[in-house]
Amino acid sequence: MAYCISEECIKCGACEAECPVSAISEGDDRYVIDADTCISCGACAGVCPVDAPKEA
Ligand code: SF4
Ligand code: SF4
Repeated sequence: MAYCISEECIKCGACEAECPVSAISEGDDRYVIDADTCISCGACAGVCPVDAPKEA
């Protein structure tokens, strides 16, 4: 089960650097997670100021 970034994302970029498998990249209106790469470690959720990454 991968994590998914909700529309609450304010594009601060903090999560991208924390992902151990580089699954996060900047999208048009929010950061996005590649579900095939994500190992569901939860690191992105831990650093997000608005709690946007959720376990899908
Ligand atoms: Fe990366 Fe972990 Fe977040 Fe998945 S849960 S996107 S592996 S930091
Ligand atoms: Fe968006 Fe949260 Fe990632 Fe910042 S840390 S880019 S608000 S998902």
